[in-house]
Amino acid sequence: MQVELIAITRYLRGEGTPEELLEHAGRVCYRSEGQGDPGRFLRARVREGHESIVEHAAATFEISGISRACSHQLVRHRLASYSQESQRYVSMEEPEWALPTAIGDDPDAIAIWEQFAEQVKETYRAFRELGVRKEDARFALPNAAATRIVVTMNFRQLRHFFQVRISRHAQWEIRQVAAAMLEAVYPHAPAVFGDLREGFSANFPELFVLE
Ligand SMILES: Cc1cc2nc3c(=O)[nH]c(=O)nc-3n(C[C@H](O)[C@H](O)[C@H](O)COP(=O)(O)OP(=O)(O)OC[C@H]3O[C@@H](n4cnc5c(N)ncnc54)[C@H](O)[C@@H]3O)c2cc1C
Repeated sequence: MQVELIAITRYLRGEGTPEELLEHAGRVCYRSEGQGDPGRFLRARVREGHESIVEHAAATFEISGISRACSHQLVRHRLASYSQESQRYVSMEEPEWALPTAIGDDPDAIAIWEQFAEQVKETYRAFRELGVRKEDARFALPNAAATRIVVTMNFRQLRHFFQVRISRHAQWEIRQVAAAMLEAVYPHAPAVFGDLREGFSANFPELFVLE
């Protein structure tokens, strides 16, 4: 699995950081420009629920090597934009797979998997040779088919996404994706995401690589 932050909002004033933009948006509400510590101001607004301020910045991630099972969970989040590799237009004759360790690390399970995966590839190729279009041949593919997707969320939605998808109730793969997204965006907006990173990295250190 790879998770890369590929774009983030740039403010056209000051240093250009997204948090400068968010602080400005918040200060407009109170006519309080230039008053007080920016980080403290933003943390207070988020804490009190004045979260529309943090909708003004967004981040874009490229995520690859996750399973279709995982991407299906991801795209359930409606307040976001997605561009995903198409199984209608891209040939899956040489598919990549994303497997859980419950299968990948178990010699008996992996032996069963390899037999099945070979059968999947043969079936897909046989369909294609019969003239079945890619959009129909893909019906032979399992949830383990790896995918690539570009995702954009604003900071408010990112906070929501992290809360529900890094939670212990979420599934292991999307938890890893969400934690990697949080790690990538946090240095660009520590006042917006610091509380979540602190809490989640303390509770689930296995999901975070801390300095
Ligand atoms: C642990 C877990 C288990 C799950 N299990 C299942 C399952 O078994 N089956 C299944 O189908 N789904 C399941 N889901 C998916 C879940 O129900 C949501 O569809 C998904 O997490 C998207 O999040 P969201 O609804 O908060 O919406 P998002 O699209 O992320 O929207 C963000 C917020 O905007 C608001 N919002 C957006 N759209 C609306 C709307 N139409 N009406 C009112 N408010 C709205 C809500 O406040 C929402 O929280 C599961 C999710 C989790 C985290």
